[in-house]
Amino acid sequence: MEAHVPLSRCSTLRVGGRAARFLAISDGAMLADVLCAAQVARLPLLMLGGGSNVCPSDAGFDGLVVQNRCGRIEIGDAVCAETGAGLGRVFQSAAASGRSGLEFAVGIPGSVGGALVSNAGAYRSCVGDLLCGLDIAEEGRVRRVGPEWLQLGYRSSRLRAVTEPRAHLLRAWLGLGSGDPARLFRTARGYQEQRLSKQPWLPSAGSFFKNVTDAGVAARVPGLPPKFIAAGVVPAGYLSSACGCLGLRVGGAQVSPRHGNFIVNTGGATASDVRVLASLVRDRVSDAMGVRLEEEVLYVGDWPGADPGV
Ligand SMILES: Cc1cc2nc3c(=O)[nH]c(=O)nc-3n(C[C@H](O)[C@H](O)[C@H](O)COP(=O)(O)OP(=O)(O)OC[C@H]3O[C@@H](n4cnc5c(N)ncnc54)[C@H](O)[C@@H]3O)c2cc1C
Repeated sequence: MEAHVPLSRCSTLRVGGRAARFLAISDGAMLADVLCAAQVARLPLLMLGGGSNVCPSDAGFDGLVVQNRCGRIEIGDAVCAETGAGLGRVFQSAAASGRSGLEFAVGIPGSVGGALVSNAGAYRSCVGDLLCGLDIAEEGRVRRVGPEWLQLGYRSSRLRAVTEPRAHLLRAWLGLGSGDPARLFRTARGYQEQRLSKQPWLPSAGSFFKNVTDAGVAARVPGLPPKFIAAGVVPAGYLSSACGCLGLRVGGAQVSPRHGNFIVNTGGATASDVRVLASLVRDRVSDAMGVRLEEEVLYVGDWPGADPGV
């Protein structure tokens, strides 16, 4: 166990103050024991996987941060992965064994656990579509549950709600199809090339806001490609760009000039810079388009005085 560890080291945005206590765990049995003990004792605990979907506060976290590095993967009828396994690594193992379905996940940084909490996805697929079962730690004991337990939706699950006591994900079973490994790797490479051509290189937490499903708004956004108008979906980046947010800055945080839904750390950004910038974007979009953007990125750690819903 370490003390006073900067969370900026554990977040892809590279922001965040110190965790009072920090433990990186790579053994599955130990992870279950620590989580169950903390749940029973009602200890404040923050679990992190890759830290690629969070904005940890500048005040840090006055509790225990557990970094989940449990990464065992078994390829059987279903693929069983400990939740600290990198999603990309699960794809690699599965595809090498001729198992299909995770090609979309290449280039999504982070762990299986973090992916399930936000039902991560891309290219019209998401991890929740594959989920067959889970081992969870809840109220001090480990049990096996079906996928319905997680209440998955578009970039959402029951674990994104601010609730106490909180459960944690230990292992997941993903049901995959079969395919020719060379073809699976080729498909994934194609997705990866698309990402590289669009996404900014500076530190970020990926797409900051969720896309909006609203046919009326889709009809009003200038320059929205016809496929989105037909589907009644507006990618949040189009809304942010249409409202003049590209390049907008607060301190070291900036709305990427390349992608309106990426808030990047140009160097020395604080978590508060990021959060203030996000609320500026939200206000501009709300004023100009009458739509309230909802964060995909989670504000974690201690945010004294902040509205937990925003
Ligand atoms: C460059 C870039 C590109 C991205 N592209 C995409 C994309 O295409 N699609 C997409 O959906 N997302 C994308 N993301 C966002 C992010 O990578 C995903 O949401 C990812 O799945 C998060 O996993 P993580 O392990 O990093 O989660 P973390 O950020 O570590 O955690 C996220 C939340 O989950 C909780 N959590 C983590 N593990 C567990 C667990 N085992 N049990 C209970 N709670 C847990 C944490 O407490 C936190 O609240 C991108 C991010 C970046 C930086």
